[in-house]
Amino acid sequence: MDHRFDVKNRFADGAQYIAGASRPGTSGHQHSVVDPATGDAVYTYELAGAADVDAAVAAAKAALPGWSGATPAERSTAMHRFSEVLAEQADDLAFVESLQCGKPLRLSAGFDVPGTVDNTAFFAGAARHLEGKAAGEYSADHTSYVRREPVGVVGSIAPWNYPLQMAAWKVLPAIAAGNTIVLKPAELTPLTSLMFARAATEAGIPDGVVNIVSGAGKEAGEHLVGHPDVAMTSFTGSTGVGKRVAEIAIRTVKRLHLELGGKAPFVVFDDADLEAAVHGAVAGSLINTGQDCTAATRAYVQRPLYDAFVAGVADLFAGIRLGDPFDPSTDLGPLISHLQRDRVAAIVDRSRAYATVVTGGEAPGDKLAAGAFYRPTLITGAAQDSEIVQSEIFGPVLVVLPFDSDDEGLALANDTPYGLAASAWTRDVFRASRATREMKAGCVWINDHIPILSEMPHGGYKASGFGKDMSAYSFEEYTQVKHVMYDNTAIVRKDWHRTIFGDR
Ligand code: NAD
Repeated sequence: MDHRFDVKNRFADGAQYIAGASRPGTSGHQHSVVDPATGDAVYTYELAGAADVDAAVAAAKAALPGWSGATPAERSTAMHRFSEVLAEQADDLAFVESLQCGKPLRLSAGFDVPGTVDNTAFFAGAARHLEGKAAGEYSADHTSYVRREPVGVVGSIAPWNYPLQMAAWKVLPAIAAGNTIVLKPAELTPLTSLMFARAATEAGIPDGVVNIVSGAGKEAGEHLVGHPDVAMTSFTGSTGVGKRVAEIAIRTVKRLHLELGGKAPFVVFDDADLEAAVHGAVAGSLINTGQDCTAATRAYVQRPLYDAFVAGVADLFAGIRLGDPFDPSTDLGPLISHLQRDRVAAIVDRSRAYATVVTGGEAPGDKLAAGAFYRPTLITGAAQDSEIVQSEIFGPVLVVLPFDSDDEGLALANDTPYGLAASAWTRDVFRASRATREMKAGCVWINDHIPILSEMPHGGYKASGFGKDMSAYSFEEYTQVKHVMYDNTAIVRKDWHRTIFGDR
């Protein structure tokens, strides 16, 4: 691992990547990528303005005929090479991801980067499996078939929590299906998206197929969503911004894919393996310092196990080691920014009026005081309708509530506006089966919480959005189907012409 990856020099040409080349933005506004573990600015760049978005969309539009006209095998070959290039650059990618996000290298090197390489390899293969209905004679006089076609230029917007993986989830299904794309990463974390796009070029994916505009949400983001030459908006981020994006996208009647916030429940029935549930809740709530849209945030524990569960989680939370993301012994890194840390702290502080903060609830001092760190926080005694139970916190905070009957546990689990992910913990197959049927979420785990797979869809129910990332299901977002119909009769006066010509 080269810890001397020189961010400033590697991105000296600017944080925009358009038509296969890096360049600076032209908005007139500077932005700094800050290492949240130290508070130090590691790279300062000029944000994208409207002109940069226009240039990126023009590049994607110019590349569209060639890329969409390539055979699936040609796209697949280039994408296989893309996954190899990413694998060759795995150490650099993990280092930069940890630097810009503060996530432990253990997470970026062991999860984010291999996940991205695997996702790329999956879509390289899937590019050759775009399916449609069989052709057939659905009327006696015609043959019909379905063409599955790319949508066109896709405009995507991504959040800062898993920048590399979000870039992959947005770019890969889009280009595998023959679209071209302009991706706007979060302004806090553009670096690995830029590396991802450069790797695409190195792999032989033509210039203009993958473009990056690193800009602010209000300026570059809204301009991209409203752009008349963009056929589809794919957005991952908060539900609030997602609603704004939807309003703008509908003005030009764009195809829309929204992956929004989450508030995943974690339901522990009284027959569960308690130790497994406790470990699952700790890992599932603290992954990526809780800045994970599927993180376990609300644990509902059936009364007989409640006290032991709370004690077990408190015990493991107390042993979590906060520290330098590059130290292999670090379990938990900082939050993405001091702003986000203060947001989380404010929600926890407000909860003290109505709930009990069992562990955590504070930032560490000493060596870590300069970073955006916050201790793992366990909260009990909150009412179901309280802010800490209902709102997305996006930090290392787990709230635990008891329940009595199975009916009550499942009802409480479904009782937020969100529906991205959920888990149930039980050894009873009937309880497990009922939970998978009744939990209103795009993913339900049994006796686990967090794992994702390239082959399986990821997406929300309810206010968590609509449409799917990953898996072959994502092609439903990134393709449009066309009905093609042939007359088989060569008859001039078709039977249905009676509606116009009557008996003449
Ligand atoms: P955010 O909504 O603040 O920002 C997301 C992106 O939108 C950023 O690139 C930002 O620059 C851009 N943006 C902001 N305002 C915009 C506007 N007016 N128009 C267009 N773009 C705009 O979210 P965040 O704080 O970066 O990320 C955290 C959120 O993302 C959480 O709510 C989390 O649940 C969600 N998330 C969801 C998933 C999922 O798969 N459902 C995955 C990761 C994160």
